[in-house]
Amino acid sequence: MVSDGAAADRMQQQLIEKCYRERTPASASAFSEAGKWLPGGNSRQAGYWNPYPLTFVRGEGCYLWDLDDNHYIDLLGNYTALVHGHAYPPILEAVLARTAGGTCWVGNNESQIYLAQLLAERVAAVEQVRFTNSGTEAGNLALMIARKHSGRDKLLMARGGYHGSLMEFETGFGGREGPLTCIAEYGNLAAFQQILSEQGQSIAAVFLEPVMGASGVIPGDSAFLNGVQQAARDAGALFVLDEVLTFRLAFGGVQQLVGMAPDLTVFGKLIGGGFPVGAIGGSRELLAMFDPVSPRIFHTGTFNANPVTMAAGVVSVKELTAGRIAHMEALAEKLKAGLVHGAAEAGLPLSINHVGSIMNLFFSEQATTTYGERNDQELTARFHLAALNHGLFIAPRGLIALSTVMTEALIDEVLERAVLAMIDAAAQTP
Ligand code: PMP
Repeated sequence: MVSDGAAADRMQQQLIEKCYRERTPASASAFSEAGKWLPGGNSRQAGYWNPYPLTFVRGEGCYLWDLDDNHYIDLLGNYTALVHGHAYPPILEAVLARTAGGTCWVGNNESQIYLAQLLAERVAAVEQVRFTNSGTEAGNLALMIARKHSGRDKLLMARGGYHGSLMEFETGFGGREGPLTCIAEYGNLAAFQQILSEQGQSIAAVFLEPVMGASGVIPGDSAFLNGVQQAARDAGALFVLDEVLTFRLAFGGVQQLVGMAPDLTVFGKLIGGGFPVGAIGGSRELLAMFDPVSPRIFHTGTFNANPVTMAAGVVSVKELTAGRIAHMEALAEKLKAGLVHGAAEAGLPLSINHVGSIMNLFFSEQATTTYGERNDQELTARFHLAALNHGLFIAPRGLIALSTVMTEALIDEVLERAVLAMIDAAAQTP
């Protein structure tokens, strides 16, 4: 009976939550203290979950430790940024050497040259790079360039696409048009073409992720991505490819895999080696807007191209070799197959969207998106908390991102723990 099922679900949720609270009292009191001084007790929407987020004190390799000294296998790596795990020794070495010699100054540092060069050598469409402190800032900068270049105001993006915490981007992420934001369905080339042919004269830029990350790891195919790029060019708009999350998926970014040459590429996350970062890359001609001798866009920032971030970023990018990308992908295949098998054993529906080293779990017969009508929210929340109880850290919405330092043996351990969490999450029939 439906009502019995719902009651059983609730009871199961309560049991899982009780266990979570019992294991993490220090995080509970830290969160209640945080609420006095920080709105809602944190500084980051994506770092909250019910009933309260954990407070971590240490990370090393694939592991995180919380205030109660529980440890977790970190399957998220700060939403994909830590592609080599926590405190990766080569990054640590570079950062310790850098910090010992001072952390920031006005004027150049050599590491920013190396990092820009590394990106330009890997990504064919990138001749020059401009650094920021976050992916959001980089997205904003791309929009500024496009507006200056075209004399137009609007942007076109995919429904559910994510390009950062900027009002113009957030409306689209929330699935809504805004006064400056047009949206079309991801994957629907004709819809993008139609908007560009009808409103092209007011659209400065088209933004796309080659794989929608925040919306549930939804890949775009080559025909769609290249078609939108062409339609943007035909309409005189810049085409901006957001590789903040996807640069980990291929040596030259996903644009290399699908043969694209975007006007601007947005970077972030892994290129900072675990420190705050963002960047845009593009042609010399477009980036000349920032030439300090004759700037067309005023852009400065106390911590832009910060020496510590740049030193860490150089190591992070250099050490993300094609071989390691393939290693992560093979581990992800193994993890995916094991999770699907485990879910069947636990009697839970599970569908997984998967590209390379990232995947999103959906506890339903069919994978959907995280922004639309998601019918597995309760079950996903239950699994998320149960997974924490069994020492696995994944995103509350089901995102998983592997790192280069993971091994097959670790994935075996993850699978053992995940099956226990699935058994907990599955409501018992009363
Ligand atoms: N673009 C994409 C595709 C992202 O995934 C993110 C962050 N999740 C951003 C932009 C924004 O980056 P940041 O959080 O560094 O501002």
